[in-house]
Amino acid sequence: MIDPQLQALIRDVSDSADDTGRRDGHTVVDKEVIAALKAYTVQASQSDFVKSSGSECPFCQSVSVYRGHLGLALGVGKRACICNDCEGTWNEVYGLSGYTVLASPSPR
Ligand SMILES: [Zn+2]
Repeated sequence: MIDPQLQALIRDVSDSADDTGRRDGHTVVDKEVIAALKAYTVQASQSDFVKSSGSECPFCQSVSVYRGHLGLALGVGKRACICNDCEGTWNEVYGLSGYTVLASPSPR
C-alpha cells in the first residue's frame, strides 16, 4: 500500500496543478515529477486486496477500475483489470468455495 503521506502529496500536487503545470498560480510543477510520484507505489498485500473485495486498485487504491470478462476453468476464475488512474493491470483470482443445491434429483 502506498504511504498515506505520499498519496496525499500526489493528490495535492496532481489536483492543484492546471494544464500548464502551474500550481496555486505561481509554482510550476514538473509533470515528470508528478509521473514519477504516481509510479512510486507499493502493491497492496493479498490480504488487503481481499479485504477490499477487490474494489480498489492494488497499486494506487483508486476505485476507478475497468474489469474485463470473468473466465472460469476447473474451479478457478480470473478477470483482467486495469486502473483508470495509474494504468496498473492485474488479474482478480477467484476460487471455488462450495456449492448450493438448486433442486435435488427426483427419486427413480
Ligand atoms: Zn491504480
